[in-house]
Amino acid sequence: MSDVEFIAATKIYDDGTVALDSLDLAVREGEFLVLLGPSGCGKSTALRLLAGLEDISGGEIRIGGAKVNDLPPGARGLGMVFQSYALYPHMTVRGNLAFGLRRGKGDAEIGAEEIAARVAEAAGLLDLGELLDKKPRELSGGQQQRVAIGRALVRRPKVLLMDEPLSNLDAKLRNRMRFELRRLHEAHGTTTLYVTHDQVEAMTLADRVAILSAGKLQQSAKPLEAYHRPANAFVASFLGTPAMNLIEGVASEGVFSAGELSFALPEHLAGEEGPCIYGIRPEDVRIADLDAGGSRGGGPGSAGVPCRVGGVERLGSDTIYHLDAGGNPIRALWRSAGDGDRGIDDAPGGEVRVRLAVPSALVFRE
Ligand code: ADP
Repeated sequence: MSDVEFIAATKIYDDGTVALDSLDLAVREGEFLVLLGPSGCGKSTALRLLAGLEDISGGEIRIGGAKVNDLPPGARGLGMVFQSYALYPHMTVRGNLAFGLRRGKGDAEIGAEEIAARVAEAAGLLDLGELLDKKPRELSGGQQQRVAIGRALVRRPKVLLMDEPLSNLDAKLRNRMRFELRRLHEAHGTTTLYVTHDQVEAMTLADRVAILSAGKLQQSAKPLEAYHRPANAFVASFLGTPAMNLIEGVASEGVFSAGELSFALPEHLAGEEGPCIYGIRPEDVRIADLDAGGSRGGGPGSAGVPCRVGGVERLGSDTIYHLDAGGNPIRALWRSAGDGDRGIDDAPGGEVRVRLAVPSALVFRE
């Protein structure tokens, strides 16, 4: 059963902006679904429509099978966590957690004992036990964010909505909270819809990721499926760091050509014909000079196209080579396999041979 369904959900703002264009998407019970896309693609709008904070312009939204288009936000059974935690500064953590339960209309039946039990449960889940009597100003950013999540969870929402909840935290804390959010989800299992523009958050948190561009759903799939089998060039270029190389050219009789670049297509793409985009991940670009004698499968004698080395970024475990292949910019990622500082030291202007015909390469038509 689906807990949340968007059916041709559309939002057109008063100024004519089409923020969400006929979104069809279902979130299954217990699922952690991440809405991912660049800024302005309509992620928050989708969440706000679901929460009832914006009126829908067309289509339908269902929660637990029931249409909620005209239901006020408070009656939708949702818990929300936003980028800013907005805790009550004069209340303790315990007070902040309990507040929503005391205040809510229709929650009058929740007695003091039940409130205490739910606060204790959330504190246990979120590791807040030691902090219950502290005020928000005495907490770190990560602790405050945990309280904000606790405040949403104590209400036992049918669905938990999170909009960029980690973006106010520094990088280290964000990494830790990401890990904790996933652990938390495994523990409480609440259906979750999570909005982010950060592909790492999406890849690590999601059971399923729904990628949006310009208000339109591009693909919904398990994270690794979207990574390895992107539905189109947009998804391919959005997932992965550095981004997938996309070379616009023409396939003809088993050969791909783009400007002065020309190479035999790999076997699985040999039947492609006509204008297309050739996609290859930076980590799959084989630099023959590095592979010679190495374990990555290039090896002496392997065919390769000549590339000019335009720049080298050494990141420690990874090295990114910026190459020019017959007028096409290409990035190659070389990852140290524990064998120290191997790699080409060519200054910009040097030349290497790379192999672009690999089994993981993809061809896109759009
Ligand atoms: P995201 O969350 O992916 O960054 P949003 O859903 O906030 O994107 O916005 C989607 C599009 O709708 C953007 O072009 C944005 O400028 C526009 N938009 C958002 N809110 C409003 C509004 N209240 N009025 C007009 N346009 C809006």
